[in-house]
Amino acid sequence: MDPTPRRSPDSPSFDPRGEDRQLLPFLPMIYVAWADGELTPREIAAIAAQMQERGGLGEDCRQRLARWLDPENPPPPRELAAMLRLMRRAAGELSDRRRLGLAELGMELARAGAADGEGGGGDGEVDRATAAAVAELEQALGVASAEATAEILVPPGPRPKAPAGEPEPAFDVAALTRLLDGEHAEVRQRVRDVLCRPGFAPPAPGQDPPSRDEHRRRVLEWLRVLADQGLGSLSFPAYAGGADDVGKFIAAFETLAYGDLSLVVKFGVQFGLFGGSILQLGGEHHRRRYLAEVGRFELPGCFAMSETGHGSNVRDLETTARYLPASDELEIHTPHPLARKDWIGNAARDGRMATVFAQLIVPGDDGEDEHHGVHAVLVPIRDADGRPAPGVTIEDCGPKEGLNGVDNGRLTFDRVRVPRHNLLDRFGTVSAEGRYESPIPGATKRFFTMLGTLVGGRISVAAAAVSAAKVGLATALRYGAYRRQFGPAGEPEVALLDYQAHQRRLLPRLADAYAHHFAARWLARRFAARSEADAREVETLAAGIKASATWSCIDTLQTCREACGGQGYLAHQRFAALKADTDVFATFEGDNTVLLQLVARACLSDYKQQFGEMRAFHLVRHVLGRAATEIAEKNPVVVRNTDREHLRDPELHLAALRYREQSLLTSVARRLKRRLDDGVDSFTAFNQCQDHLLALARAFTERVVLERFQAALEEVEPGPLADVLRRLAALWALWRLEEDAGWFLENGYLEGVKAAAIRAEVLDLCAELRPHAVPLVDAFAVPRSWLGPIAFGLGTERV
Ligand SMILES: Cc1cc2nc3c(=O)[nH]c(=O)nc-3n(C[C@H](O)[C@H](O)[C@H](O)COP(=O)(O)OP(=O)(O)OC[C@H]3O[C@@H](n4cnc5c(N)ncnc54)[C@H](O)[C@@H]3O)c2cc1C
Repeated sequence: MDPTPRRSPDSPSFDPRGEDRQLLPFLPMIYVAWADGELTPREIAAIAAQMQERGGLGEDCRQRLARWLDPENPPPPRELAAMLRLMRRAAGELSDRRRLGLAELGMELARAGAADGEGGGGDGEVDRATAAAVAELEQALGVASAEATAEILVPPGPRPKAPAGEPEPAFDVAALTRLLDGEHAEVRQRVRDVLCRPGFAPPAPGQDPPSRDEHRRRVLEWLRVLADQGLGSLSFPAYAGGADDVGKFIAAFETLAYGDLSLVVKFGVQFGLFGGSILQLGGEHHRRRYLAEVGRFELPGCFAMSETGHGSNVRDLETTARYLPASDELEIHTPHPLARKDWIGNAARDGRMATVFAQLIVPGDDGEDEHHGVHAVLVPIRDADGRPAPGVTIEDCGPKEGLNGVDNGRLTFDRVRVPRHNLLDRFGTVSAEGRYESPIPGATKRFFTMLGTLVGGRISVAAAAVSAAKVGLATALRYGAYRRQFGPAGEPEVALLDYQAHQRRLLPRLADAYAHHFAARWLARRFAARSEADAREVETLAAGIKASATWSCIDTLQTCREACGGQGYLAHQRFAALKADTDVFATFEGDNTVLLQLVARACLSDYKQQFGEMRAFHLVRHVLGRAATEIAEKNPVVVRNTDREHLRDPELHLAALRYREQSLLTSVARRLKRRLDDGVDSFTAFNQCQDHLLALARAFTERVVLERFQAALEEVEPGPLADVLRRLAALWALWRLEEDAGWFLENGYLEGVKAAAIRAEVLDLCAELRPHAVPLVDAFAVPRSWLGPIAFGLGTERV
């Protein structure tokens, strides 16, 4: 709290011509003691007491000094202002006034007879006792003296302006865009062109976000444009108007995510999920019958898997599809309210058909029901005029936190009948004789094979999350490069991005967007080229990278919003929508925590036999094998090595992440094994080790992401671009090590000195990458209209 000035109004002001002339050498310090609020009244009192005890000063001088440093009686603001004017006027004559300390300035004031300037009679002489006292007081004040002088003497008025603009990029930004766009540059450019159309622009500054109805209407219109452009059917066969290229479809989806995410999700539901279910789960007759209409958006459809009672655990969903031999139909039924389909995109307003996932029941030869597990059935839900089909009840899920341009709804089926041929029968069919047939005998394997084919949605969401993060980063980093706050006295204010804290918040996350970009692109390529042999591996990778990319996106967008201060809170800067819309990316297309458990289980698959019939010594032998590696990697020289070259070595980064993954794998396997040996059932054993399993899944995913980042750099020719990207990869890796330093220290992989050196290296890399921040985000080539306007200035100043 400010001390209340209680100096009596009639007490004499500082009088440089009269008795206070003695205090001229102390004047800068008296001023500083009160003016900047850095000293507490207690500290000022202590300094005053120290001066009182000092010999050499005359009694009168001491008393006057004590009066001016009395915490009970601070000088009023006008008094301080008068002191400041006096000092500035007197110092006007000095040539190198900026470099003076407070004591020196005081001595100069006395010598120059500052009081002369006021018409008084300074004699210009300062005795040695006063000089010593001044020096002592300067010490006691404990402030950066030369800076304090500069603050005092800085001319009043606005600071000088910094030159506008950033330095020229040190690398070829267009070449980086080409690298990022990769093999699908043409599709990406087509999507960018659509997003740049005026009709696609987000709400302008000052404009209210659209109402829910209006938003849905616009998204529907936009979706038609995308369908007309042939972008929806890219993964469909040529006979359905497509390009038979799922890689292109994912690239379009990813690029679309620079724009309105409701459109992205509706696009995904219509073409990726509804169309994808027909493509992947249907037979040739389904594909030929429906895909062209789906691709043209003439048959709006839904993907109805989740139920109110079962979201993550879809294997136990309860909607039934019962085969009725008498009419050769399937009867789709919701047995109770919790079994209604919930959250279904496209259901509340536009959808006419749904791929409904239901437990297939077929009467056996003995008349008993045969349960064949979850299958997908095409069910009409509305007629061409938008009226619900007989037996189908449709509800609107209502307003959501985000994605309000998507019409999510609930579907309840009351014994709705569809022809037997509506069963999507690639993995299981009901023959004309009413018999169930499948190329995959086991229901569990069939279920997972079926789900596995739908993993493209998960990959698309991962890629879209990276795009959303890029939009936030491009806005925040461009803003940070020109937005200025604070700075040294008398100089231009400093750009936010020149603050270490700002660099530390944003640059590791920029590296993170690059890391996930390369990982997601590699995953999309692997998915497009997958075979039966590696399908499970691709599913595991998709689960891990989807969880990692979406959580990263959520974290990055919040950091970017904060980095833009109050401006970032305005709706038209897009952070509000981006954050609200991407929040659910952690939940749909597989809840992230549930997905990581799939990853962990896949990591453990090598150990599966040991959990079952193998004896414990096999596991012990494996663990001992690992121990030999651990000893090599925990070499005391390595765990303490803090050389820069070593810390930036990509091999060190990968070795550390591999070590953590292997170590977590071995230790969790050991823990599970112990429980299983003790007779604990596997469900309970896994639950008791769940935290450990999740750590393993995260470690696995981070290792994969780093490998992909490093591998992508091999495509880049040596030169300035490669150099910047190498540093970006090193920053990401070291940031990850730093974030989990607790684990590495706990496990003896790092010693304290090395952990500290990693932290310092992260800061150095941030500083080195700072000049490249804007070119690195410009290379994303986000359409200008979809960045927050603050990326280009506040509309009132030079940028
Ligand atoms: C906006 C939106 C759009 C959607 N669109 C569609 C759509 O078009 N079609 C469709 O079929 N579905 C859709 N969904 C549904 C979505 O797929 C599910 O919400 C999702 O699968 C999660 O299921 P749940 O909501 O029942 O959550 P739950 O499974 O109940 O999970 C709740 C919490 O419990 C945790 N949890 C669950 N199981 C475990 C476990 N074994 N161990 C530890 N923690 C666990 C989860 O991590 C989560 O935090 C959509 C959802 C939303 C919100």
